[in-house]
Formats: sequence, structure tokens, C-alpha cells
Amino acid sequence: MGTEGQLAAVAEEVRGCTRCPLHRGRTQAVPGEGNPISDVLLVGEGPGAREDATGRPFVGPAGKFLEELLGSIGWQRGDVFIANVVKCRPPGNRDPEPDEIASCAPYLDRQEAALEPAVIVTLGRHSLQRYLPGSRIGAVHGQLRRAQGRFIFPMYHPAAALHQSSLRETLVADIRGLPSALLAARRAIEEEQAESVTADVAQIQPDTTPRDVDPPEDTTQMTLF
Ligand code: URA
Repeated sequence: MGTEGQLAAVAEEVRGCTRCPLHRGRTQAVPGEGNPISDVLLVGEGPGAREDATGRPFVGPAGKFLEELLGSIGWQRGDVFIANVVKCRPPGNRDPEPDEIASCAPYLDRQEAALEPAVIVTLGRHSLQRYLPGSRIGAVHGQLRRAQGRFIFPMYHPAAALHQSSLRETLVADIRGLPSALLAARRAIEEEQAESVTADVAQIQPDTTPRDVDPPEDTTQMTLF
């Protein structure tokens, strides 16, 4: 199954999910949406009222600001994939509980595996804790980190800037670093892939089978590297 099929299968399961009590209060589950071939996955916390009503992530006031942030670096929401740590709205927009996050984690695991993003942008505390447990947003925001085999770019949650205006500038400044973080992550991934190909080739045993025929004199065209 291709990426789109895998993402659609996850979305279908999420819409019918009853793994945790959050399903009881939902209008619609919010599996996530976006570009299936994007190298960038944005991970928020959980749906709010507007998301619960529409089944789409980041379509309320925080989403409007997120779109502005993306626009400030020339990106649109359709250029990335947007998902959340929990797929159903916690009542009254409370923080998701650890057991709710744990119940929902396999869906995000599968979305990540399908997308294989070069960079995961964490939006807010709960998303950050999934990838960089114990780290503090104040210390890591706007910096590309490597964790669990992924490149992580932590950011404050856009909703935080709606309550605390000083964070607005921080978010604007941080997202400016995202395109170069993406390039750095892509380059590192390519180098790692090239190294692993070289290591695989080094493990191939030389062919010592006796030959009946003499090798051709000019062997340059047979060289792979
Ligand atoms: N906040 C989130 O973390 N996710 C959404 O989808 C909307 C608001």
C-alpha cells in the first residue's frame, strides 16, 4: 500500500476509534490532513471546538495563525501534513491525559511511518514530550534536534501566542529557521543513506569464482562508484 493508502487507512480507523474515553465526547475525530508526499509533519496537541465540529486539524484561531506563520516562509498548509497527538477533542480543551496520549500514539506512529518526514515540527508541550521527553520548550524551540531516528524542530504552540503576545515574535522568528532546518535534515538523511549503501557494498563478499574467460582489459565501465 502506498503512502496515501496507508494514511487513508489510519484516518478510517481513527474515525471509528473507541480506544479511550475521549471518543464519547467527540462530534468528529480529527485524523489529520495534508500533503502525503510532504517532507514536513506538523504535530499539534489535540482538536479544539472548531476541529471537533469539522473533523479537520488547526481550522480555528490557532490554525489561522499557523497558516500565517507558514505563509511568512512562503509555504501553505497544503505543503505539509498536519496531525495531532490525540485525535479527539479533550473536554473543554483540557490537556490530554497520559493514557489518552498513549492510546492514540499508534495512529501517529503509523502516520509517521507512512510519511517518513525529513522533519517533524512539534507544536506545543505534549507533542514535544513525545519526541524529546523531559526537554523544556524554552530551551529547545527553533532548534533542529535528532531524536528517535527523526529530525525534530520544536516550536511553541500557535495558540500560546494568542494568549501571550510576546510569543508571537518568537514563533515568527523560529519558523524562519524551518526551511534551512529542512535542508539540513534532508542533507543528513541523504548522507546517512549513502553511508549505509557504502557499508552494504563493503559487506558484499568478493566474487572468487574461477573464470574460464579472461576479464576484459578495460574494466572502467563496470565500476559502480
Ligand atoms: N490545537 C491543536 O493542537 N490542534 C489542533 O488541531 C487545533 C488546535
